[in-house]
Amino acid sequence: MRQPTELEIFSAQPVASADELAGTFVLQPHEALKSDEEHDRVFSHLGFGTDFSDYMAHATWTAAEGWHAKVVEPYGPLSLDPAGSVLHYGQEVFEGMKAYRHVDGSIWTFRPTYNAARINMSCRRLAIPEIPVEDFMGSIVDLVRADARWVPSAPGSSLYLRPFVFASESFLGVRAASRYEYLVIASPSGAYFPNGLKPINVWVDRDYHRAGPGGMGDVKTGGNYAASLLPKVQAHDAGYDEVLFLDAATNTNIDELGGMNVFIVMADGSVKTPKLTGNILPGGTRSSILQFLESEGTPVSEETISLQSVVDGLASGEISEMFACGTAAVVTPIGRLASADFDVAVPVGEKTSAIYEELTAIQLGHREDRFGWLYKIADA
Ligand SMILES: *Cc1c(COP(=O)(O)O)cnc(C)c1O
Repeated sequence: MRQPTELEIFSAQPVASADELAGTFVLQPHEALKSDEEHDRVFSHLGFGTDFSDYMAHATWTAAEGWHAKVVEPYGPLSLDPAGSVLHYGQEVFEGMKAYRHVDGSIWTFRPTYNAARINMSCRRLAIPEIPVEDFMGSIVDLVRADARWVPSAPGSSLYLRPFVFASESFLGVRAASRYEYLVIASPSGAYFPNGLKPINVWVDRDYHRAGPGGMGDVKTGGNYAASLLPKVQAHDAGYDEVLFLDAATNTNIDELGGMNVFIVMADGSVKTPKLTGNILPGGTRSSILQFLESEGTPVSEETISLQSVVDGLASGEISEMFACGTAAVVTPIGRLASADFDVAVPVGEKTSAIYEELTAIQLGHREDRFGWLYKIADA
């Protein structure tokens, strides 16, 4: 049996209901709600991360007042002094989650306390004050309730939620800031793969790493993404969709993609994923997949996986499928893996789509929520 991680233990603890939390972030008047025409235009071509809802949740932290001024206010530009320290030293963390509309019209989210625990793990690493779980949960409840008309119901669609915290003190000295902003913005999103799962081509980068030992690889912060962009641009130019990073200490073991964890399905039916070393982001999707595979009797293991063993396993047929996973796409098959000295096709098979089906069925309330992962935000 797997030992649960700290995040898994924390996220299994009971939390107040949405009705109990409602009002934590106080709804402000909105003079210019988007028109029904604008709403319908957005819903007629749901993409990812390009359109936003009417409101955003916002709170500010100062040493004197802690987290205060908790509001749900009209979505719009922030005013930030050019010396605002996030612009210079990148002190920021974020989360990614989704609100789903079930067939009866009610609105739910998936393992929100996992995100609450993880944003605080990220905050600790970046010397940012933690956000009380009730505030994190309250911000999600109050924002989604205010923005309920932006939760789509088309298959595969959701209201993508992006909580984030950044240093807003105007100060160029190098130290942890004395003022922070917490926000949650919401973006109605369509199915990542409207025409079924589409395999991606992955470039294994040997020149760049997204994170290294003692760095920030296991926390969700923009800096890791900044480090991944140049290799991603180069891979794109060469015709690849994503980059698989190796561990910075030895440059031999697979870590993860720039923003998704990676899994390997063996021909014998067992499933493997790189173990959490401190350089790998502990994905909630990764955690969910490990838990439900184990519960249905699939042998799962978290281990050090050398790139060589992957290349050999693909050549010999010992590896039968590979996929990447994360909240945005849920599960994405890998169809090709290449680097300067190899280029191998990866079979796309049943296990990957079965995992996708299982997870999305739980999220949409089509399958029993045996793990207690769903959290009800609002009734129909
Ligand atoms: C967010 C993220 C993931 C996936 O995490 P989920 O909780 O499954 O969305 C994986 N890797 C990185 C680097 C990430 O930032």
